Amino acid sequence: MADAKSSSAPSDNISKKRKSNGKNESLSPPNFFPAIDDPKLRLPANRRKAQCWLVFREHVEVDRFVYCIGCSKWVSRTQSTTSNLNEHIEGCSGARERIKKSSTKNQNQMAATTIDRFMANPFNDKQRETAMKLLARTIASADLPIRLCDDQSFIDFCLFTSSGRFAPSGRTKMTAVIDALYEESELAVREFLKSVKFVSFTTDSGTLLSQDSYQALTAHAIDKDWNLVTIAVALLPLNEAKTAVYLSSILHDTLEAWKENREHIAIVSDNASNIVAANQILERKNVVEESLRCAIHTLQLAIKVVFRSFIILRFSESGCQF
Ligand SMILES: [Zn+2]
Repeated sequence: MADAKSSSAPSDNISKKRKSNGKNESLSPPNFFPAIDDPKLRLPANRRKAQCWLVFREHVEVDRFVYCIGCSKWVSRTQSTTSNLNEHIEGCSGARERIKKSSTKNQNQMAATTIDRFMANPFNDKQRETAMKLLARTIASADLPIRLCDDQSFIDFCLFTSSGRFAPSGRTKMTAVIDALYEESELAVREFLKSVKFVSFTTDSGTLLSQDSYQALTAHAIDKDWNLVTIAVALLPLNEAKTAVYLSSILHDTLEAWKENREHIAIVSDNASNIVAANQILERKNVVEESLRCAIHTLQLAIKVVFRSFIILRFSESGCQF
């Protein structure tokens, strides 16, 4: 490498200038000014992430100087540090303007960073299928809405927790996954009901805040370890007035579908006259062997009657008129 002493030797025809490796190592700045897109301008191969390289470029034919694309001037690069380059930036409005623009551009790109990472290294098909199944299970067990899959905050959460590798498919795909999960669960329930000796059902209706009414059918059995197992097998929408005939017709097919050819089936309900009459219809049609009224509900009704008599007695003793 040339130094200031050797390059100033009197024998050197071109004062302060030497050729080494095809590069101009003059101590004076070059007297040409390349365009910004000149292919001979380049970023240093071993540069760190120093901010100055947003505005400085090396020239393939120039050593000791780098080119500021903010103001088209050569700046001395005599040391390995970038301190003199930073000094130039402080006094160069063109350079500062370029750095400012670049930082705004980077901020805009940050929003897309997570999705970029997702695109770079997504789950494979098997991992994706497993993740969707686990998510379907979560939605089903926690009674979450399927539209969760379309919620951007939830998508961001999935991307963050999977290091950008998984985002759920939309609700259409999730509906299909939940349907498949239902079929899988139904098979498991049927297998269990086949494995026990006796099964009985309870049924009750309810009306939601939305005024939609449903009739629930729940299976009960005792497993081989003597645990009482309770499984809701159907929630049937009621579209007509809840008459005994209508309720029995609604329950008929569902009971036939779940009793698995059993003959000894009992159905239990509360004491509402419509469901009691509906269960008696099912009994007459041999869909169930026996229709029973819930013992606890019957006891509750009896206690109510006693209390009412007691209150009436107290009121009449106090001479209250009603
Ligand atoms: Zn400059």
